[in-house]
Amino acid sequence: MIDFELTEDHKMVQSVAREIAARKVAPTIRDFDRKHEFDPTLITALKEADLMGVCVPEKYGGMGMDYISLGLVCEELEYADTSARVIFSVHIGLNSMTLLGWASEEQKEKYLIPQAKGEKIATFGLTEPGAGTDAVGIATTADKDGDHYILNGEKMWISLADVADNFLIFAWTDRDKKEKRDHSGISCFIVEREFEGVTTGSIPGKLGVRAGNTGWIAMQDVKVSKENMVGEPDEGFKIAMTCLDGGRYTVAAGSTGLIKACIDASVEYCRTRKTFETEISQHQLVKEMLAEMEYGYQAGRLLWWKAGWLKNKGVRNTRETAMAKWFCTDQAEKAAYNAVQIHGAYGFSDEYPVERFFRNSKGAAIYEGTREIQKLMQADYLLGFRKDKETRLMVPGYEE
Ligand SMILES: Cc1cc2nc3c(=O)[nH]c(=O)nc-3n(C[C@H](O)[C@H](O)[C@H](O)COP(=O)(O)OP(=O)(O)OC[C@H]3O[C@@H](n4cnc5c(N)ncnc54)[C@H](O)[C@@H]3O)c2cc1C
Repeated sequence: MIDFELTEDHKMVQSVAREIAARKVAPTIRDFDRKHEFDPTLITALKEADLMGVCVPEKYGGMGMDYISLGLVCEELEYADTSARVIFSVHIGLNSMTLLGWASEEQKEKYLIPQAKGEKIATFGLTEPGAGTDAVGIATTADKDGDHYILNGEKMWISLADVADNFLIFAWTDRDKKEKRDHSGISCFIVEREFEGVTTGSIPGKLGVRAGNTGWIAMQDVKVSKENMVGEPDEGFKIAMTCLDGGRYTVAAGSTGLIKACIDASVEYCRTRKTFETEISQHQLVKEMLAEMEYGYQAGRLLWWKAGWLKNKGVRNTRETAMAKWFCTDQAEKAAYNAVQIHGAYGFSDEYPVERFFRNSKGAAIYEGTREIQKLMQADYLLGFRKDKETRLMVPGYEE
């Protein structure tokens, strides 16, 4: 049976997130965005509302809600600002849900539970100065030394790099395979900020997500216990790809929040601005821009809801999630572009929020797999180069 009704639990979590976005993000975002500063009190508010582990099972310190709830939180936060949603993408989508699927019980006890309770903040470190899309091109190494690995390398463009306590780091544990570009030589580690040899910094001068911290992580001879390897030594690349199924979903859902913000701002402006002695809402070309925003919003929501429904069933959803990510981020870019257009010159200044929406919308077409990669994936499924739904989802969803 297909059911498009949100449950009472969904509505509850949606209203909690909406209230936080309105109270904690909307009133101050212009200042934080102008200063390129992250507001740490936002994390406190999310923690106090128990949202930092919204879809982590209660057994591991979370709220035990489903993936639709996670998407709704992302949508509400991004309605206020993309940087607020990015916290969820990296902390839960890319890190905590990966630990849920892949980590040992000991690792879940030590890392997942504090993360789900919001006591520790987590992020995901795959990208490097020389490798983004081409993940096999990473240079970071992890050499075995008794019961430890010694990590050396640099991660770049990492969300919350200066904020997070725990990082999921991908590194080569097999140097021969590194030379041959055989991805089974990549492993995944939990690295703590407190480990000796870890340093981080922020990237200045970003186009968007200015109120979200984005930076680099440098690792020089960082000694990491073998107990901190997630999965088996040859599973790092596979883990990274399943992480992206979680992260892309949060980006897709967040993007429909951004589209809705563009719609609301534009509708309001259309009803007040007059040209030729009439509201600009009366001009057909302006109506067309509004209609296209609504088209992106409604269709985008159906796509991420479907991906969330598959995740709840524990079914492999890489294809649907990639489609949702591509469509929703594409439509968010178009909506923000048109929202600025509708505002005319006022859209060109940060007096109105659409200027920030426009800048923020660009990032999502780049991170968590660029638009080009999402397109290639869809073609590869059609051509049979990628197999569909043969395997169960690695993160088990709610089948327990
Ligand atoms: C705000 C922000 C936050 C981020 N947060 C994180 C994070 O928390 N953790 C993390 O690990 N990374 C993060 N990233 C990095 C992001 O995931 C990478 O930027 C992304 O994967 C693209 O890699 P790249 O920038 O190196 O571009 P490149 O891989 O160098 O690509 C450059 C261009 O070439 C195109 N291209 C590349 N290969 C192909 C191909 N085979 N076919 C067609 N076109 C191709 C791309 O689509 C793109 O247009 C973040 C980035 C941003 C902007």
